Amino acid sequence: MNTQELKQVAVDAGATVARIADLERLRGIETLPPDLLDGFRYAVSMAVALSDPIIETITNLPTPIYASHYSRVNALLDEAALRVTRYIEERGSRAMPLPASQVLDVEKNLSFLSHKAVAVAAGIGWQGKSLLTVSPDYGPRIRLVTVLTDADLIADEPLRNRCGGCTKCTDACPAGAIKNVNTDSHYASRDEALHFERCVHHVREVCAKMENIGSSICGVCIKVCPWGGRKRSKAA
Ligand code: SF4
Ligand code: SF4
Repeated sequence: MNTQELKQVAVDAGATVARIADLERLRGIETLPPDLLDGFRYAVSMAVALSDPIIETITNLPTPIYASHYSRVNALLDEAALRVTRYIEERGSRAMPLPASQVLDVEKNLSFLSHKAVAVAAGIGWQGKSLLTVSPDYGPRIRLVTVLTDADLIADEPLRNRCGGCTKCTDACPAGAIKNVNTDSHYASRDEALHFERCVHHVREVCAKMENIGSSICGVCIKVCPWGGRKRSKAA
């Protein structure tokens, strides 16, 4: 299958960036159900860049316009995933679009798999200290979606971590959840990077108190990362 053409389909459907992850790199990743990746070789990882002016409305709290944007971008990602799925299936291969945002295990806050981990494997960005995927072009100001496939594609390489000595997300997190631990490639578990329960508790508490929010969102670590807010070239 023509990998470049497939990426262009993703971009034409609204993705800002599309790259390919070799699922070998994700061996052992937690998925729901556990056999989710069986029969698939690659994942198409797509990102949609968030609006900088909207991200800038976030203070130490999310805002209604960010909540609406978050939801709208998820819908665009789901649409792009469907278009990519159709492209692959029309060429005789299998493809499975995973929802951009659907929590299956509320207690553990888990979905089918981590779109962020797939994006890191595909080289869309590196795994930042906040656990967000940090793109060199958009910082963590992206939302992600994944399509699994058995199509014959050319995988992209992961990026090196560029967090360095930065502590911006650690300093800004209102829950004190980010441990300021660096990683060369990826953390063994999310607990290595985060006091995850502090983040979840904070987000739930804040969103329950606010009107017009709806989603469980925060946005502070997305806003403060210095790699965001300086959009560069589009990188399909
Ligand atoms: S989402 Fe909010 S609470 Fe969670 S780590 Fe980021 S800044 Fe902290
Ligand atoms: S704010 Fe700094 S430490 Fe946190 S993810 Fe961004 S670059 Fe990495």
